[in-house]
Parts: sequence; structure tokens; C-alpha cells
Amino acid sequence: MDFDYDLFVIGGGSGGVRAARVAAGEAGAKVALAEGDRYGGTCVIRGCVPKKLMVFASEYSGMAAEAEAYGWSASITDFNWNTFHGKLVEELDRLEGVYRRLLAGSGVETFDQRAKIADAHTVELADGTRKTAKHILIATGGTPVRPDMPGAELGIVSDDIFHLPEMPKRILIVGGGYIACEFAGIMNGLGVETTLYYRGAQILRGFDDEARGLIADEMRDNGIDIHTGTNVLEMKKTDSGAIWTKGSNGHEAEFDVVLFATGRKPMTDNMGLEEVGVKLGRAGEIIVDQYSQTAVPSIYAIGDVTNRVNLTPVAIREGMAFVETVFKGNKTAVDHDLIPSAVFTQPEMGTVGLSEEQAAEQEPIEVYSTSFRPMQTSFAGQQKRVLMKLIVSKETRKVLGCHIVAPGAGEMIQMAGIAVKMGATKEDFNRVCAVHPTMSEELVTMRKPTRTA
Ligand code: NDP
Repeated sequence: MDFDYDLFVIGGGSGGVRAARVAAGEAGAKVALAEGDRYGGTCVIRGCVPKKLMVFASEYSGMAAEAEAYGWSASITDFNWNTFHGKLVEELDRLEGVYRRLLAGSGVETFDQRAKIADAHTVELADGTRKTAKHILIATGGTPVRPDMPGAELGIVSDDIFHLPEMPKRILIVGGGYIACEFAGIMNGLGVETTLYYRGAQILRGFDDEARGLIADEMRDNGIDIHTGTNVLEMKKTDSGAIWTKGSNGHEAEFDVVLFATGRKPMTDNMGLEEVGVKLGRAGEIIVDQYSQTAVPSIYAIGDVTNRVNLTPVAIREGMAFVETVFKGNKTAVDHDLIPSAVFTQPEMGTVGLSEEQAAEQEPIEVYSTSFRPMQTSFAGQQKRVLMKLIVSKETRKVLGCHIVAPGAGEMIQMAGIAVKMGATKEDFNRVCAVHPTMSEELVTMRKPTRTA
């Protein structure tokens, strides 16, 4: 049977664009891609990239005091949101252009419309046009979830925070995950009075307890008002235009903006998936095998829509593995083990492998952990602390987990991740000479376990 294309990709985010251009450019496939929003997807347009630029913006506020302690006359006064936002918009436009050019340059035909599945080999575009393809790849990503409660429509989600009409004076952030904690740091650094409500006992559930504890302490020291064990029960608009909220701990307050950072869900609604036999999980995610193939053999899915490990570089690798498998005749399963990642809180966290708690459940371990005041800020009279931590298997001596809470932790964990992925033992770490004076030298100089479990 003749198809219009060898591959039709739905979704122009990191995963979809990579798969489309590699299939077309390297494997010579005839490829089309449909995107109903902006090219670049969540990461580039409303996630990692603008978020990190906002992290940078927010970090300048503390620098004047530090510089003064080093002998400079320095002052940083008002943050001009409009100036920053104008540059941000320009940068996102530039990046979207790069993505469009990458697709065009690889010979991928693009349709600026939403698309859904009509049958195992047919995609229907929003204007009703139908296109056939030998393979269909779904890479539609995810979307923020808003909790169901009175007044929830008064709140915003992470998609909106990059385009606020003005900087609020007071913000409430609901949630204790990546997005909530990163934006608490950003807003606080930009001079916004920041309150965070998290329903659980400690923020950043799932990460190493000691690392979460240090981040929470530092966030509080930086001035963020964290309420744990607390959720919003009700929200109302006041006469002055503010948002009044009532917390489950009895805390009542008014805010200019309420940000719901209460998780994301896969974008599978109204896509005709179940009708053609694609299986969805309980969170609406597309169920795929290790080759990203769905229950319908001609349909594959990658990235956040599959809710495996929801990170841009993972979606990109899933896209590459899909092309290897389907277009290059080299069956390649995606390796989801030991993925290093960073959370851009202030201080930043870099992590790879198991937390102390996960490792201790699995086998007997040694924990090497040190928390200290780093040279740069300690000299400036600040109390900020950092954490360097290794979890080691007693039996194999392998480093099972590495957790860093420190400025630049994301950069450090990329390197440590190589060693951990290679299966380095504690003794391999010990054999490496320290780079002095740095914070991360502690990773190779800790000789005695802090504790065993
Ligand atoms: P997360 O799943 O990390 O966090 C959601 C938070 O909201 C949790 O604290 C959760 O609580 C809470 N929550 C969920 N439902 C409710 C509710 N009804 N009421 C109150 N609180 C609620 O999601 P995020 O949105 O922060 O991030 C989504 C994903 O995006 C992440 O999992 C990550 O993969 C990715 N991401 C990665 C980043 C990075 O790598 N630096 C940055 C940003 C996002 P509980 O813990 O109790 O479930």
C-alpha cells in the first residue's frame, strides 16, 4: 500500500522534532510533522529554557550584598519585568525559528495545526485534511493540571507565569514538586513575597531526604514562607482585585497571583487514540513497550505523553531510539536507568541514582555525606550550606547514588553521572585526585562513612 509519508509525527517539541529530522535527514524517510502551538514545545517555549533564564534573572538580587562583602560598592535595585520579558519573548521567537529551520533543512514537511489519529495509518489535521503514513509517532507532551476546588480558575499554571502582565507583589505557589520549588526561588529572588503550600510533610517528594531537607531550610532562609501539610481549600477575588485564599491549616491570606504547580498530565485527550486501539494508562498516558511502540504496531509514542521519565533529554533519546529501531533496522530499547537530572531550586540540586532511602530498602549501604558552608559565600558572611553525598553498596562497592545541593550542582552532576553510569565504585572515586579548592572535591575525599544502613 502506498502512503503519503513514511512517518507522520504529531507534536513539535523536543522529542518529536528530533525524531522527525533524524528520520528524514539521516534515514532518508519522507516525513511530516504537525504542531498546533509553537515549535519547540514545553521545554523551549514554556518550560526549561524560559525557566532557566528566569532563574538567572532572579539570582542577581543577592549578588550586590555578596560583592559588597568582597569590597565592591554595589547596588541592585528594581527589577524591570518589562525589560526582561521583552528580551525573553525575542529569545523564544529566535529559538522557535531555529526549530522550524531545522525541520525545513532536513526536508520535513510541517503543518501548523493540531492533528489526531483517524486510523492505524491515517492522521486527520484540524482543517479536516487526512494524511496517511506507514508509521505515526505521537509526541504531544503534557499539560499542567489545575486542582478541582472553588475559585481554582483564579489561579494560573506554569504556562502563564512567563507572560505575566506585571510582577506581582505577593504570590502563592501550590505544590511541592520541581515546578513549585523552582518558581518559589525565582519569584523570591525577583523580589516577590513568596508563600508555598505543600500538602505533604516535606517538599520534593521522591528525592533524597537529606537533600530535600537542606533545600527546604535554605529556601526558608532565603525568605520563602513554606507551609507543609497545607493545601488551598478555597479562593475568592477580593474587592481590591487580590485573591483571598484559605489554607487547610487555617492560614488565610491575600495574594496577587496564585500559581498551581500541582503536576502535569499527558496530552492524549480527543486524539482518537483509544478508538483505534492505542492503550492508555490511568493517568491518560500512552502505554508503550521498550521500543516506544503502542498496542497498535504502526503507532509509536515518545516523551511526556508516555509518562515514563518526563525530561527533555529523555524524550530526545526516546526519539533517537525510535528512529534507530524503525528506520535504521537497529532495534534499540531506551535506557531509563541512572538518568542524571537537576532541579533549579536555589540552591540547585543535582542527582543521579538512588536516594539513601531507596538504596537502603534495596540492600545494605554506606552513606558518605558532608554538608558545609562553601568558601565563596562563607567569606561574605553568609550561612548558606551545600551538600555532597554518595550512597555506596556495601557488597559491590558501587556508587548507587550521588546527590549534590550546591550552586552549579546541575553542571557537577553531569560529570558525576558519567562515573555512576559506568559503574564506578567508591574506591574508583577515591583514586581520583581532588580539584582544590572546589566544593565537589568532597566527592573524592570523603573517607569514612557517615552512617551505614
Ligand atoms: P510534580 O509531579 O513534580 O509535582 C506536583 C506537585 O503538586 C507535588 O508536590 C504534588 O504533591 C502536588 N499536587 C498534585 N496534585 C495536587 C493537588 N490536587 N493539590 C495540591 N497539591 C497537589 O509536577 P511538576 O508540575 O512540578 O513537574 C512536572 C514534571 O515536569 C516533573 O515531574 C518533571 O519530570 C518535569 N520537570 C522537570 C524539571 C527539571 O528537570 N528541572 C523542571 C520542571 C519540571 P505530592 O508530592 O503529594 O503528590
